[in-house]
Amino acid sequence: MLPIYIIGTKVLRQVGQDIPQDYPDLQGFIDLMFESMYQSDGVGLAAPQVGKSLKLFVVDATPYADDFPEADGFKRVFINAKIIEYSGQDVVMNEGCLSIPGVREDVTRKDTIKIQYYDQNFEFHEEIITGLPARVVQHEYDHTYGILFTDRLSQLKRTMLRNKLRAIARGKFKVNYKYVLGDKNTVDRYLRPLTNTLELA
Ligand SMILES: [Zn+2]
Repeated sequence: MLPIYIIGTKVLRQVGQDIPQDYPDLQGFIDLMFESMYQSDGVGLAAPQVGKSLKLFVVDATPYADDFPEADGFKRVFINAKIIEYSGQDVVMNEGCLSIPGVREDVTRKDTIKIQYYDQNFEFHEEIITGLPARVVQHEYDHTYGILFTDRLSQLKRTMLRNKLRAIARGKFKVNYKYVLGDKNTVDRYLRPLTNTLELA
């Protein structure tokens, strides 16, 4: 599988590039993304998490189907996605991220989104997604704008987590997948989002 980039790496803080239709071996890359996601027991994986600053993420929410029926068979590839509407109720749910090992926190997100994207065959879609898949998609979509779920926590929570994130960025964690750490001289700079990325998304 592809190694997972950990918080503190620059690529996790960049806004991904749009992907052109003739991007070399896009299908091969998508296959590798799914393979890496399944091997690390994730339900979503975004290109920046494997070191590519691209607007691409994959989702397969099926493991949640027992508790969330709407997740059954929700397997998608999102290329150059843009969420054009957030609606419905605020829902709180515990989230984690392969790029922030060992941290799980409650995140408030909207229940429903309207999203435009291209699939793996470069066919355009506009889709309304609701429930658990909408949460997974929002989390992965954020990655393509350089945003991590910890950025969406309260100021107080973020302050409480700061030292833990600092330690993670320096490799103080244990996972059963391969990973890449940031340069030790710049890890602290990339703990937080780059200016304006929250507004951009
Ligand atoms: Zn993540």
